[in-house]
Amino acid sequence: MELQIFYTKNCKGFLKPVQEILEGVYGLKTFGNKPLELIENAYNPKRNQYDATSLLDYLIRTKEGKIALWIINNDIYCEDMNFVFGYAAFHHGAVLSVFRLDSLELIQKEAVHEVGHVLGLGHCDNECVMQFSNSLQEAKEKPMKVCEKCRKLIKLE
Ligand SMILES: [Zn+2]
Ligand SMILES: [Zn+2]
Repeated sequence: MELQIFYTKNCKGFLKPVQEILEGVYGLKTFGNKPLELIENAYNPKRNQYDATSLLDYLIRTKEGKIALWIINNDIYCEDMNFVFGYAAFHHGAVLSVFRLDSLELIQKEAVHEVGHVLGLGHCDNECVMQFSNSLQEAKEKPMKVCEKCRKLIKLE
């Protein structure tokens, strides 16, 4: 399976490192990677944030293959969360916001996490990149690696 990566123009620099980590961790190749700008009807002026659900729906309508990732620079929220780093739909796609991520390593880690969801993984309590993180600190503390249980679920060697 191949992943299509979209990015807002101001995130172009993250494309290559994200491609590299996803290939390294999941052996996942990408295709048709291209810029895609945000849609204004996903913007919530009361919160000064974008609605992750609307952006994800738009991504799923726009993608040309089976699965896609969209790297964006604006802050996103969903339902009753103040913010989210990313938002995913199993076997379809994910939106990744770099807005609150302060290092390239963290952006790569959250990309691995979101694409884990796209590949069908849920949250995990092991020492695993699929740990749920509710804060920047938690995101920093979880490991980059996919644990053995999750590797088996997605049939990674
Ligand atoms: Zn998650
Ligand atoms: Zn795991």
